[in-house]
Amino acid sequence: MPDLGLPNGEVLVATTWECNLRCAYCFVKEQTQAAGARHMSAQTARRVIDALDEGLPHVESICVHLYGGEPLTNIPAMGALVEQARRKAAGRFNFAITTNGSICSDELLELLDRGRFQVILSIDGPAEVHDACRRTAGGRPTHARVLEFLRAVRARTRCRVRGSAVVRSGWSLAEAERYLRSLPVHSIKAQAVRVPRDDPFALSAPERERYFADLEGVADQVIGELEAGRAPRDDRFSNRVLQLLAGRSRERFCGAGETTFGFTPEGTVLPCVLLDDPAHRLGHVAEPPARWVAAGARWRAAGGRRAECASCADAPLCGGGCPAIVPVCGADECEMVHHNCAMARKILAHFSDRPEDLLPLAGIE
Ligand code: SF4
Ligand code: SF4
Repeated sequence: MPDLGLPNGEVLVATTWECNLRCAYCFVKEQTQAAGARHMSAQTARRVIDALDEGLPHVESICVHLYGGEPLTNIPAMGALVEQARRKAAGRFNFAITTNGSICSDELLELLDRGRFQVILSIDGPAEVHDACRRTAGGRPTHARVLEFLRAVRARTRCRVRGSAVVRSGWSLAEAERYLRSLPVHSIKAQAVRVPRDDPFALSAPERERYFADLEGVADQVIGELEAGRAPRDDRFSNRVLQLLAGRSRERFCGAGETTFGFTPEGTVLPCVLLDDPAHRLGHVAEPPARWVAAGARWRAAGGRRAECASCADAPLCGGGCPAIVPVCGADECEMVHHNCAMARKILAHFSDRPEDLLPLAGIE
């Protein structure tokens, strides 16, 4: 059985709520488009690193995942996070960034390389698909800029890049995956847009059926890559397959409030940055970390699972769903989870007589 490792932490840090794009399906647009959207100061960024180092001794290594808004609009905070992390024990911090890739400079490329960021780059498809939704505040297309950013990151940094696409009405999972596979990225993931059913970008009923059929195709592709002894480029099923292999049941969907936290540009501490609501507030980065760590434990204890989860056959694999997304998408999200769990079982079943062939999923080749 693979050892799934000691707990690692992931902290989502919104270094700004500002975004230079106005994506049509953005779910944080109320914040990013609000007047006076705030940047995190360099001083707060340094405090975030100090507070995490002190507050999470039970976590082996902490991935600081820059989020927003668009983190590339606040390079000083990004630089302060990286520099402060370099003052801590080697391996204590690593970095990831979710970005629209529409801003690039020598300074930024050096910083990405210095922090050895994992870059999660949003790119939906070819120009006509991408630019239909992902435009600047002034309405300009961004596809060409994103490709330029990708080429520069690959040529001038040691960063690993994940191509990330949004599947929406009129743009299928199979099409998005095919496009992502054509790019010079290390890993890929295309997922259905998370919006309520009456949203114009939501998949229609037949499109959802096609999405699930395409998911079978993704699982087949994963099986093919594992057969060839390679880690799959689309790793969406990896954790669930490894969980099944290890016979582990998932208590919670994620570590929100325990190994996962969120920080807003102003320094508010949350169980996850996507839970930015006063009801979820755990404290402030300027307070002693023990306070917001204890508040996180109380938040988790009070959370519990939804009633539906008690009778759900996939609960041991799911752990109750993302607390930020399930309240918005409800049954639709559970349907996605059920299909993802079914694909994980299918992959495991394929290798039932040679489970060692699944080790590339854990990064062991
Ligand atoms: S799939 Fe839905 S019902 Fe089942 S455990 Fe996950 S959140 Fe709960
Ligand atoms: S609350 Fe949702 S988005 Fe936040 S860490 Fe958990 S699973 Fe991820």
